[in-house]
Amino acid sequence: MALTNRSKQVAVRELTFMERLYLPAIIKGMMITLSHIFKRTPTVKYPDQIREMAPVYRGQHVLKRDEAGAERCTACGLCAVACPAEAITMESAERKKGEENLYREEKYARIYEINMLRCIFCGLCEEACPKEAIFLTDRIVPSSFTRGEEIFGKDLLVEAMNERIDVSKRQRPEVLEFKKDKRHLHNLTYQDARPKTTAHH
Ligand code: SF4
Ligand code: SF4
Repeated sequence: MALTNRSKQVAVRELTFMERLYLPAIIKGMMITLSHIFKRTPTVKYPDQIREMAPVYRGQHVLKRDEAGAERCTACGLCAVACPAEAITMESAERKKGEENLYREEKYARIYEINMLRCIFCGLCEEACPKEAIFLTDRIVPSSFTRGEEIFGKDLLVEAMNERIDVSKRQRPEVLEFKKDKRHLHNLTYQDARPKTTAHH
């Protein structure tokens, strides 16, 4: 039984004289090729020429540090749960006394890995993160010769202190405004004096 009415009966028939000549079909094809010579070429001569990306292009991830340089990720695992490709794995550890300048929260990711071969760059990890720790950036993931090289660890994901990555274009103005409000614990760094009674999330 047909599921739709879009099926078409195909008859096997003899080719007409014109069709058997093949020449008209070849000329028609050549005309299409010729017409493309005068059109603007869409080819980009990468890497000499870099294509302009959309402001929210989703490329290689970054694990952000806060303004004081501490890693924002608290290894809650929400990004891994949200990831439809199961590309993220991590192992958490407890922050020790004196490590407040390294890790923002009491728990941090000792290991954090993204398998770039699995990732489909959907951005759901970025949306799931409650700590503004993971963002996709406009960086292109470099190709490699082995699969192992495509598993990116913290060495490649955490932003370098001297090469911070600006993600403010990916954040809504309301969010950027909220972050200025130091009454919220979420916006405090280890350098800020933490109010004991009034602080809330
Ligand atoms: S961008 Fe999507 S597929 Fe890639 S790690 Fe994040 S959630 Fe997973
Ligand atoms: S990146 Fe965000 S969502 Fe993922 S484990 Fe770290 S804090 Fe949680």
